[in-house]
Amino acid sequence: MSDEYAPVDFWTALLRGWRGRCPRCGEGALFRSFLKMNSRCPVCSQALEPYRADDAPAYFTIFAVGHIIVPLVLVMERYGDQPPLWFHAILWLPLSVLLALYLLPHIKGGVIALLWAHRIAAPSSSAGGPDRSV
Ligand SMILES: [Zn+2]
Repeated sequence: MSDEYAPVDFWTALLRGWRGRCPRCGEGALFRSFLKMNSRCPVCSQALEPYRADDAPAYFTIFAVGHIIVPLVLVMERYGDQPPLWFHAILWLPLSVLLALYLLPHIKGGVIALLWAHRIAAPSSSAGGPDRSV
């Protein structure tokens, strides 16, 4: 067995993923752009491509944003002298979008780190799956 899974505890890997760093070494960038992952860590050459978060980061981001924004809306509605609907729209819609854009790469990094820590990799193309190298 190779050193692909160096001993890194789960929380360290999760924190590294949250920071957008390789869960193995904590140095290399996980992303080459906003949400595009590097296929390998530029520092330790850890293969990152097999760890596919798919739609999980989007679901978790929607869940988190909803659980942050909705209580704030309800608190403002209850204690804020019931502002008009346009005020809610101007305040909460951009705030929701900005919060989602902030959280999405962090949550995606965390999901990738979670997959890496638990060795949940997508099957390789030689295992009968579609060849993604083309
Ligand atoms: Zn690395």
